[in-house]
Amino acid sequence: MRLSYRVYPREVTLISVLMNNQQLWQAILGSMEVSLSRANFNTWFKNTHILERGSDYIIVGVPSTFNRDWIAAKYHQEILKALKSLAPEIKEIKYQLGSSSAPSAQKPVQKISSDFPGHSHKESGPAASQTSLNPKYTFETFIIGKNNELAHAASQSIAKNPGTQYNPLFIYGGVGLGKTHLMQAAGHRLVQNNPKTKLLYVTSEKFANDYVNAIAQKRVEEFKKEYRGTDALLIDDIQFMAGKEGFQEEFFHTFNELRERGKQIIITSDRPPKEIPAIEQRLISRFEWGMVADIQAPDLETRMAILRTKMEKKGVNLTEDILFYIAENVVTNIRELEGALNRLAVYQQMENRGLVLDQAKTILSSIISSKKRITSAKKIAEMVAEFYNVNMEDLIKQSRKKEFVKPRQVAMYLIRKELENSFPSIGDFFGGRDHTTVMHAVEKVDNLIKEKENFKQEVDLIMDKLFV
Ligand code: ADP
Ligand code: MG
Repeated sequence: MRLSYRVYPREVTLISVLMNNQQLWQAILGSMEVSLSRANFNTWFKNTHILERGSDYIIVGVPSTFNRDWIAAKYHQEILKALKSLAPEIKEIKYQLGSSSAPSAQKPVQKISSDFPGHSHKESGPAASQTSLNPKYTFETFIIGKNNELAHAASQSIAKNPGTQYNPLFIYGGVGLGKTHLMQAAGHRLVQNNPKTKLLYVTSEKFANDYVNAIAQKRVEEFKKEYRGTDALLIDDIQFMAGKEGFQEEFFHTFNELRERGKQIIITSDRPPKEIPAIEQRLISRFEWGMVADIQAPDLETRMAILRTKMEKKGVNLTEDILFYIAENVVTNIRELEGALNRLAVYQQMENRGLVLDQAKTILSSIISSKKRITSAKKIAEMVAEFYNVNMEDLIKQSRKKEFVKPRQVAMYLIRKELENSFPSIGDFFGGRDHTTVMHAVEKVDNLIKEKENFKQEVDLIMDKLFV
């Protein structure tokens, strides 16, 4: 009844009055979505909705306190801005815990793992928690920037409350951007918080190797006990499991069992779950159950911060213009940033006096100009084939199967862009195709890169690999 008496300011509210809560929220999310990466968007806004709407306020329901704090701190202004154009009468937004009324693909895991620290160290696992982690990879040494703040916050959150809300935590990003560091930082913190935590850190290759050996030595039961008996399982570089069905099967069961028992799983990959080729759908969907967080390349400011911090730690003193030169030229890989710094540090100590920029440039010339090292079409094609997990043969030859068409077009595109080979010569390389086919491919990839952020990231990833 009250509603019908309410006086809305004219014209402005018409849109929002006509919209129900769900439509209004969808409209707001729609405008947020464009400015956020997919991983970020899903992480923060999946399972949110309007719980209550008054004449000048809304209450937004969010699935966890972590979400609430994060959205309030980071996205509040943007939500307000979106509201301004849609429902200007709303002046206040509150955030409150509340389960989503909308059906959702994500099964919320409410289980609180009171039994989390249940294990002791007595049996000799494949790697004791203290020894399997790199002591340098802690939160204390991790520098937070816009590029990694989501993944960082998520890692801290699971270290605080393992096995509950964000399980698995799936971190993805390009080479040398800190995935292993962050994953291990969470591991260290877990053990610090509870020294009884049985933690296992392995690369997916080691997991596969252990499994093969276990089969060969008829120790499969032991293998299962080791892997399924952990409180926290950290699997690094899961993309290497692509195409290995036997291991995927075994990992699937390990995953299910651990998760059911509220044990924390952390996974890293060089790309998002959906883009890992030749991996079972049921695994992909499980990877997306918890939180998927990306790490992007650091911006200039973050690169400078990383350089400054690492420099201080090493006790060297480089001038600001040298640091800036490194930060400007080493863009996509933090390991390389460190590498450049280390090299200068060695020279500085040898010379026992301050370096000037020109010297630094000379010393770093092999690092900084060695970037474009890949000079043959074959090398590029091999990289692309490896990335998409297809045979070179299939990539080059005549097959028109869809699964080969995209990788082939990407390979053609990269060869053209990076090597500037002529269209006919690229056609020749790909089994004598017509130059118009190559032109078409290059154009198509060019357009896709402009249109689709995901696809752009995918091509960037391959480029990164070309220049390692
Ligand atoms: P990835 O696993 O993504 O390939 P790593 O975790 O091995 O990358 O990181 C590469 C190097 O860069 C490591 O020495 C790591 O300590 C350092 N590093 C990466 N990100 C950061 C960061 N945000 N702060 C400090 N060091 C970092
Ligand atoms: Mg790594």
